[in-house]
Amino acid sequence: MKVGKNMDIKFNTYDDFMKEYEIYQLDKCSKCNSVRELMQDDVMVRIENRTLHFPGLFVLCCTKCGDKSLPEYSKEMIDGGYRTMVKQNQFVGEFVSKNYRKKFEYCQEIDYQYDHNDYYNIPGLCYDEEHSVEGFLTPVFFDRKALIYFISVPDFEVDIFSETYGYIGKKDLEGIYQYDWSVPFGFNSNGKLVFWLGDLNYMDAQSQAILKGFNVDSDHLIIDSEFFQAQMNCMFSRLIKEKQILMNKDNFILNVKKKYNIDLTHLEKECSSQTENIGRPLVFTEQGISGVINAFDKVLVEGFDVGQLRELYKTLYTESERDAQYERWQSIRLIKEILLKWCEKLEDTIDVEILVSPLYILHDYRIYLDHLLSEEKQENTKMYIVETLGVQNFEEQEAIYFEEIERLDKLFQYLVLLSK
Ligand SMILES: [Zn+2]
Repeated sequence: MKVGKNMDIKFNTYDDFMKEYEIYQLDKCSKCNSVRELMQDDVMVRIENRTLHFPGLFVLCCTKCGDKSLPEYSKEMIDGGYRTMVKQNQFVGEFVSKNYRKKFEYCQEIDYQYDHNDYYNIPGLCYDEEHSVEGFLTPVFFDRKALIYFISVPDFEVDIFSETYGYIGKKDLEGIYQYDWSVPFGFNSNGKLVFWLGDLNYMDAQSQAILKGFNVDSDHLIIDSEFFQAQMNCMFSRLIKEKQILMNKDNFILNVKKKYNIDLTHLEKECSSQTENIGRPLVFTEQGISGVINAFDKVLVEGFDVGQLRELYKTLYTESERDAQYERWQSIRLIKEILLKWCEKLEDTIDVEILVSPLYILHDYRIYLDHLLSEEKQENTKMYIVETLGVQNFEEQEAIYFEEIERLDKLFQYLVLLSK
């Protein structure tokens, strides 16, 4: 993020200041139309013949050109300071912000840490007509790893459907509604997980408590995310799972490129033409789903550069840790070992064997569908698929399909989360 020099602004008259006060600064830069983020800055303000110094005032800073402007709440503070100075006949004033944190009437028992300044300063958040109690749209920040718990427990459903936006829900076990609760979350540009305070209030006490363990202080960044843009501007439609998986594969590749400078892309053109065949099947017969399974196998198994996966394996494992056979491993095995390494620090919360199982199934199913097997092998493959996915028999193609998609979705969500 580009940050311009400290703010030093001059108003010849109090009226000039009031004119600026009336302009509501938005989330987009008025100069270059890029996204602004909230940050604290050392600000000098001159109004007529009085000088006000704020060593830590919140300003909106353009992420591209660094241009700064004053959010509403900061202008209110400047106005208050100026009026006090006039009353007390002072000409130079120093305004050090206290570490005071206001608490809203949401989640009071669990007492999350958050910064009320975000609520008042980030454009749009406090102009919320939907919720009558103040503070609903206050961002509360967490370590991203908190999501891993929710992905691994079957009572919850987590959907990451863009790089910075997702939903989490607790299933309704009585089956009356789909969810007990379901709320959106985002990732900010620092990779932190963000929920709205009011949404956290909808969660059950146990989920709130789990999140509490991952609660971190606000870094004020949230505007530069699809989460914020979608929540404020309501311009987002949820993707179907099949598309989410593809998107998360791309996000995984992007993360690895950024973090390790390793490029896992392989046969990009072929992959993108295959993805056109991926969508929800119309009928759930072997034939009906074969197109999607075939395409997924090409994109998700063969669509990684095996040599580069091996490079990633070598980056993660020291020479003495590496398996003697690793030079011969193909993509699925390499992905499994890479996941094992990333999961090491998470204790035993994730069963990596089950996590990668949908890749093995894709591969076997593809070979079965292509009729490349003897009859005996075909029977074995069917049995393996039925047992691994926990369905009744191979005729239940719909159940097989949805379980497979569910698992692929989970796997690629993990790959995105762990590779960041
Ligand atoms: Zn700009």
